[in-house]
Amino acid sequence: MNLRVLGCSGGIGADLRTTSLLIDDDILIDAGSGVGDLTLEELENIKHIFLTHSHMDHFTFLPLMVDSIFGSIKEPVIVHGQPKTIEALKTHIFNWTIWPDFSKLPSEENPVMVFETMMPGTTMPLGDRTLEMIQVNHIVPGVGYRVACNSGSFAFTGDTTNHDNFWEVLNRYDSLDLLICEVAFPNVLEDLAKRAGHYSPELLALDLVKLRHRPDIYISHTKPGKEDIIVDECRAAIPDRKIHRLFGGTQFAL
Ligand SMILES: [Zn+2]
Ligand SMILES: [Zn+2]
Repeated sequence: MNLRVLGCSGGIGADLRTTSLLIDDDILIDAGSGVGDLTLEELENIKHIFLTHSHMDHFTFLPLMVDSIFGSIKEPVIVHGQPKTIEALKTHIFNWTIWPDFSKLPSEENPVMVFETMMPGTTMPLGDRTLEMIQVNHIVPGVGYRVACNSGSFAFTGDTTNHDNFWEVLNRYDSLDLLICEVAFPNVLEDLAKRAGHYSPELLALDLVKLRHRPDIYISHTKPGKEDIIVDECRAAIPDRKIHRLFGGTQFAL
């Protein structure tokens, strides 16, 4: 399995892109502004999009993506999300006012995009890859994912602050090779992190002791301009783990 980080920033500016992970050439986790760097052919190859939650930085290029591939794909793109996430997109984005309802275009029988609800705690096999949706603790209903294939696995927290479930689910498995973990704010903004449902380095340290695996850990969703201080604070708070800053464009072979 190949994992390509299209975007992993908490914001924009110059070369920063918001959250989107491309698995092989056909699966996206989130559809933030990183999607805009794909070629039209790469966009047309995407068959499944798994959303973590309804915040804009995680779906902002989905409306433009389905418009761009409209008329040039044979099978609809399947957009997976927990019920509250799908409901929010239908009500507030694909509502004919902000954007057309592409789940009914060009026709209800043969649309360019279909929504499929998925319940946290369930898994979906796609070829030799399996995605598990895992409930986390964000200010709106949010999930992370564990993605496994025959040769390896990774997990992505999505947006979250402290809780047990994500770590307990990962601990049920024999291994975890790679962890992409959000840390949105530096320690000085820990109060804001709690209120906004995000981690600070000190908050993440409290949860990582729950994880029995020893994966390489890549820090994502950092506030623009605060990347280095957040990663430095993570290394100080969690000295026994291998902590890296995640950069857009990074690829992993798992
Ligand atoms: Zn969020
Ligand atoms: Zn976010």
